[in-house]
Amino acid sequence: MESLNRYSRQLLFKPIGEEGQRKLLNSKVVIVGMGALGTVIANHLVRSGVGYVRMIDRDLVELSNLQRQSLYDEEDAAENLPKVIAAERKLKKVNSTVKVEAVIADLHLGNAEELLSGFDVIVDGTDNFSTRYLINDVAFKLGIPWVHGGAVSSRGMYAVFIPGKTPCYRCLFPQVPSGLGETCDTVGVLSPLTDIIGSFESVETLKLLVGADHNPNLEQVDIWFASSLQMDISDGHNPECPTCVHQQFEFLDRSSEVQTSYAILCGRDTVQINPKHLAQFDLAQLAKQLKDAGTVKKNSFLLRFTPNDSVSMVFFKDGRVLVHGVEDIVEARKYYSQYVGS
Ligand SMILES: [Zn+2]
Repeated sequence: MESLNRYSRQLLFKPIGEEGQRKLLNSKVVIVGMGALGTVIANHLVRSGVGYVRMIDRDLVELSNLQRQSLYDEEDAAENLPKVIAAERKLKKVNSTVKVEAVIADLHLGNAEELLSGFDVIVDGTDNFSTRYLINDVAFKLGIPWVHGGAVSSRGMYAVFIPGKTPCYRCLFPQVPSGLGETCDTVGVLSPLTDIIGSFESVETLKLLVGADHNPNLEQVDIWFASSLQMDISDGHNPECPTCVHQQFEFLDRSSEVQTSYAILCGRDTVQINPKHLAQFDLAQLAKQLKDAGTVKKNSFLLRFTPNDSVSMVFFKDGRVLVHGVEDIVEARKYYSQYVGS
């Protein structure tokens, strides 16, 4: 019983209670994306005593993240730490009795099933549509509930999707929005908004884990103009939905792959280049190779290479490269070819 004392305020809350707390301690949650939403979600779930929290993210901490990504600080940015590593360090100090796992990776069709299977709930901390469709495919293929959330500017939304029970994300949004649309790169995002959406996602996750009824609405809020909109999506099934009706998981199917091997990240002037074939960087070897061409800084997770004043490149062990300070994909590709080869 002593081990539950730290959760006393949650035990007093009747819909959770001791029984619910024990369920939480035996639960496994995976969070995709450890930006503004992901940090809020991970913080709440780890403090609440969810027994196993896996965090997946592809990016590293930068100063411009600190305005809203509440688990990180200036030291993390100065050390060029991957977000999940910085989050893991902090969260282990918060609650050392639960398992917190950091996975440095870009979620894609080649690894999504493996990284998301075996969890009780998948939580969306991503900043892009294509990853959400991928999560939706995996969730409905494997029968795992998932909690969606999104935030841009002062507007956010969240919803819960449960295979066999609710419509899926694709029932509501059949087509991937074309173009990039509004992102926090173009219209910004407010920190109180990501706090609120991440908190709602966290509470829906806790409800799923203890077996309480989920919120049946797609909830939308605008925190600047203080407005909100609720839409009950219980009857929103699309009878022709490829995902949850026809079980065609197109976002997991390489032959129908629509994604390019590039992704523009939410974080100004940054392009990620994914290796066409699975690759691994030997960072020590790469450091030697690049040391005469610019400044090289390396830690055990990644290597940052600065060839000139305006551009820097970050190499991850799994073969991905982030090119910061470029105008577009063409320019990013040029730097990639120049220093990595094509
Ligand atoms: Zn569907």
